Amino acid sequence: MPVYKAPVEDVMFLLNDVFPIERHNNLPGFADATPDVVEAILAEGAKLCEEVFTPLNLSGDQEGCTRNADGSVTTPKGFKDAYEAYASGGWMGLSVPEEFGGQGLPSVLNTIMQEFLSSSNLALAMYPGLTQGAIAALLVHGTEEQKRTYLPKMVEGAWTGTMNLTEPHCGTDLGLLKTKAVPNGDGSYAISGTKIFISAGEHDMAENIVHLVLARIEGAPQGTKGISLFVVPKFIVNDDGSLGDQNGVSCGSIEHKMGIHGNATCVMNYDGAKGWLVGQENRGLNAMFVMMNEARLAVGVQGLAQSEVAYQNAVAYAKDRLQGRSLTGPKFPDKVADPIIVHPDVRRTLLSIKSFNEAARALVVWTGLNSDIAHRSSDDAQRQTAEDYMGLMTPVVKGVLTDLGFDNAVKAQQMFGGHGYIEEWGMSQFVRDARIAMIYEGANGIQAMDLVGRKLGKDGGRAIMTFFNEVGAFCQENADDENLKGFVAPLQQGLGHLQQATMWFMQNAMAKPDNAGAGATDYMHLFGTVALGYMWAKIAKAAHAKKSQGNGVAEKMDAKLLTGRFFMERMMPETSVRLARISSGADVTMAMPMEAF
Ligand SMILES: Cc1cc2nc3c(=O)[nH]c(=O)nc-3n(C[C@H](O)[C@H](O)[C@H](O)COP(=O)(O)OP(=O)(O)OC[C@H]3O[C@@H](n4cnc5c(N)ncnc54)[C@H](O)[C@@H]3O)c2cc1C
Repeated sequence: MPVYKAPVEDVMFLLNDVFPIERHNNLPGFADATPDVVEAILAEGAKLCEEVFTPLNLSGDQEGCTRNADGSVTTPKGFKDAYEAYASGGWMGLSVPEEFGGQGLPSVLNTIMQEFLSSSNLALAMYPGLTQGAIAALLVHGTEEQKRTYLPKMVEGAWTGTMNLTEPHCGTDLGLLKTKAVPNGDGSYAISGTKIFISAGEHDMAENIVHLVLARIEGAPQGTKGISLFVVPKFIVNDDGSLGDQNGVSCGSIEHKMGIHGNATCVMNYDGAKGWLVGQENRGLNAMFVMMNEARLAVGVQGLAQSEVAYQNAVAYAKDRLQGRSLTGPKFPDKVADPIIVHPDVRRTLLSIKSFNEAARALVVWTGLNSDIAHRSSDDAQRQTAEDYMGLMTPVVKGVLTDLGFDNAVKAQQMFGGHGYIEEWGMSQFVRDARIAMIYEGANGIQAMDLVGRKLGKDGGRAIMTFFNEVGAFCQENADDENLKGFVAPLQQGLGHLQQATMWFMQNAMAKPDNAGAGATDYMHLFGTVALGYMWAKIAKAAHAKKSQGNGVAEKMDAKLLTGRFFMERMMPETSVRLARISSGADVTMAMPMEAF
């Protein structure tokens, strides 16, 4: 049975030492989040994940979801109870405003919990995860009545949420969307069409399911400019808040798929279902973007989460599995062989995962704090910078953390040799579960295009220039710090490559967009490597400062610093390869005749 221990201590180091949360006490909700309170909350969350969610991960994968003859869906044994434990613990509303039943705490805490939950049971964690995205969209774009009708029940966990974008002929290109909305004349609309791949579209864990659905109002323009967003409850909500008739929405089938078996992926049929407009007519994508941006960050976190849990199991196995002898002579002469963790290649593999995980977690926390600043700060300049970073980092977190999350799950599986390929060890599940994160919420190629095509040039390149300035200033300020010697120089070099790649796009992609398209994925990863390197430099600075605290902290910080040095030596050099690929342009890629593929 796979194991999992939530990395609470690492998170507390990030929140106390690397990005001190106390500095943000002026933001609403932060004053209540003292270090003690945060630690107590995360410890409680860790317990839920380790003791309730984790034990259901393997069994949920094996059992999967079942669609019954009446169209209802039964989730794997134990999921309903585990969801109830989550809901009754108040986790859904951790960072939702108090007026809707939430606790109003910093959303970064929720993001951290998403890592723990997704590591322990990704399929199960997706049910509340989607609900939180729907809550966010209704909070921003819902009418007062919609908020009053849906939010308290969703925050309580009694009702869950979904997002309905995809149709059989339209995934990435939402402009092709056909689902239609016809005004009923009473303020509601009749929604008709078929949505596919809808996560948590139908299940047995909640009294009601609140679908957020993209559809085209009759007569609206074609393309993305004619799409509107609707709230379509499974059961119509009566004026007194009780549940009325079943709406015209049903689950036609569920998908049999590679991973996340415990999460119901549904074909949803809308047959004149009653829906109500959310936000403005024809501005549905804009409204859905709130949910999509939330979801993209959450999906990036899923990549990290699978990498972390796979790593923990690989380490346990590598310390236990006896094969061969160390290259420098037996390390455990009393045993028949040494544990495989003595072998340099095994250590290389484990350290490449570990050094990613710890920096990726820092990037998630940093981005999460920026999200809080963007949503809660009253200082215009501070808010603008945070919003800029959010825009820039969302595709990077989504694309890079999920690509590497999957790679790392495979690497961790490799540590088990043939046993990793056998289902009972659980490593195969981590690989299968991690794979979807690269695809949904905008496939990673699309994230890369979003970064290069939209985010780089936005507002005259303000966001990317702010990032360059921040990292450049850090390098300059710490250039002479002996403690950071192995960190600043490689970071500076990586930053230089990122700046060159950005300049190359400016000079070569404006007139020839294929150059941007062909280099986008490499650029996203180049950016990600620099961002992770920056995280390591900041972690290293904090770790050196903390070393003097005594009480065994020094050993832990030394291990951190070694992990960081591994990243700087082994991962940062990738920036030069990425730059070379980007600046080779698109000519060869595009020269290939279609029939020659
Ligand atoms: C398990 C699962 C759960 C899901 N959950 C949900 C959900 O809850 N709600 C929902 O609405 N959807 C959901 N989806 C759908 C998912 O978001 C889509 O599958 C995804 O957006 C890609 O769309 P597509 O499958 O139609 O691929 P396509 O759009 O056909 O893309 C195919 C490939 O072409 C590439 N491509 C397409 N256009 C371009 C371009 N312009 N430039 C470069 N490359 C391009 C893509 O990157 C991709 O690799 C889910 C899917 C799965 C499998």
